[in-house]
Amino acid sequence: MTEENGNMNSLFKEIVAVVGSEHATMEEFARRSYTRAPFYSMGAGGRGKTPAMVVRPGTTEEVSEIVKLANKSRTPIVPRGGGGSVSPLPPHHVGGDNNILMDTQRLNRIIDIDTEYMTVTAESGVILSALAEEVRKTGFHVHTVDVPIHMDSVGGVLSGFLGGGEPSDMATAGTMNDYLLGLKVVLPTGEILQTGGGPATNINQARFLHREAGGPDMMGMFVGDGGAFGIKTEATFAINPHPPVYLPGITDMGSRENMWKAFNELVSQAPYPYTRLLAFHEEGGPWYFVHVIRAHSEAEAANRKKVIDDICSANGGKPAAVGDEIMQIAGMFSARRLGQQALPAGSTMTYFGEALIPRLPSLEYLDDLNALLDETVGDLDIYKRVDFVVPYLRATTITGILLYFGKGTTRDEASGRMFQTALHRMEELYTEKYGGWTETHQGTSMSHSASAWSPAFRSFMRTIKQSLDPNDIMMPGLWRI
Ligand SMILES: Cc1cc2nc3c(=O)[nH]c(=O)nc-3n(C[C@H](O)[C@H](O)[C@H](O)COP(=O)(O)OP(=O)(O)OC[C@H]3O[C@@H](n4cnc5c(N)ncnc54)[C@H](O)[C@@H]3O)c2cc1C
Repeated sequence: MTEENGNMNSLFKEIVAVVGSEHATMEEFARRSYTRAPFYSMGAGGRGKTPAMVVRPGTTEEVSEIVKLANKSRTPIVPRGGGGSVSPLPPHHVGGDNNILMDTQRLNRIIDIDTEYMTVTAESGVILSALAEEVRKTGFHVHTVDVPIHMDSVGGVLSGFLGGGEPSDMATAGTMNDYLLGLKVVLPTGEILQTGGGPATNINQARFLHREAGGPDMMGMFVGDGGAFGIKTEATFAINPHPPVYLPGITDMGSRENMWKAFNELVSQAPYPYTRLLAFHEEGGPWYFVHVIRAHSEAEAANRKKVIDDICSANGGKPAAVGDEIMQIAGMFSARRLGQQALPAGSTMTYFGEALIPRLPSLEYLDDLNALLDETVGDLDIYKRVDFVVPYLRATTITGILLYFGKGTTRDEASGRMFQTALHRMEELYTEKYGGWTETHQGTSMSHSASAWSPAFRSFMRTIKQSLDPNDIMMPGLWRI
């Protein structure tokens, strides 16, 4: 037995004493089962690294005890929520071979739904669809990611994706981060920290009332940290009464110029007349808008629809017939409400270059992306290309291309080609030419984003990381800084 194995074995015994033998394992079949990523075959880097140990704590206190033990032996920890990472998890470049993978899914309690103060507090392993369903039973709505809502956990999206995930209503609502009021985090030393105005900054106040009250807003630093600043064990979100009226619509905007004028007018409205907005265009066809209005009454919905219709028609738009083709494309952007993700048998679909970029150059970015696509993967059996631009609040868009491959192209072939020839050039395009971002805060994407950090920001991040994590055990090396 090597010295490293001996150390892991004695750490394992100590961890079993904390969580019980049924919640920790060093069995290879179990460890390997945690390396399977949903994007495994989508060219995002394949399987994760096999951890040396998997542990499933059931309480914040158990998380804290495990982190303290890992500190003693300086063993890296990789937190895991639902395992829906776009990047392989554990990331290959994080830590050495002796990582502990901490699966947070036993932290699955919804602690409190307060309809007076309109908050929900849940443990970090709660899966988002379960959270949304429980809140909905009280007549309220909590913002969650759109897809994959049945896989992602509270802690995983807050740590790993756009700082709280892309909710279905991100055109107007922003990410879950905008609704976050408090976090409980086990710091890399094992200390338990509560953030957020209320219990954190006024020990006489049990409720989460206001994020900034009583001290600086320190919560944001844990959002989108990829798990490197600590392990989130609880989160409190603002909730709102559920708007029962749902009114979708499709407008044919004709030319790209008409669409873009209307797009910019629509996103500058306050309040936004739409709840969701999506612009798309299939090669050779007109540009369409799909909008969704969620409202508290029919009258409110009708008023908002009039604002949208007036802006669209002033820019040459006209109501479009809801055809199957349009609904198939629209369905890609919301599996829940706009339609089913139905693809013709044998074909496959993927996104190309989907990125968060500044709003004004969005269409130029699309032109560059299409040119890159022609150059790199153009000769694959692509039977449909759909350009799309989705506003993310006022200043940025999520822009990219939907690709539909015909029967002649297997998913593996498409992924392989895209991964090898196009991925890093597309990342260069949105990061370096457009000053945009990859959408994820995890794994390889995070290290790519971090390569664009300014020297001052990099040094600031290093300082914080070193002071929070003196033994460098929490996702060490995530940012490659
Ligand atoms: C096919 C597909 C489609 C997707 N579409 C969307 C979309 O439409 N909108 C959207 O927002 N996202 C989307 N995502 C991305 C997904 O939401 C993110 O990858 C999200 O981070 C996954 O959450 P998870 O709970 O599964 O986290 P995991 O994959 O388990 O972990 C993600 C990251 O968070 C860290 N982490 C996990 N739990 C904790 C914790 N408790 N404390 C600290 N760190 C933690 C992990 O170490 C890792 O770095 C998509 C992903 C896939 C595979």
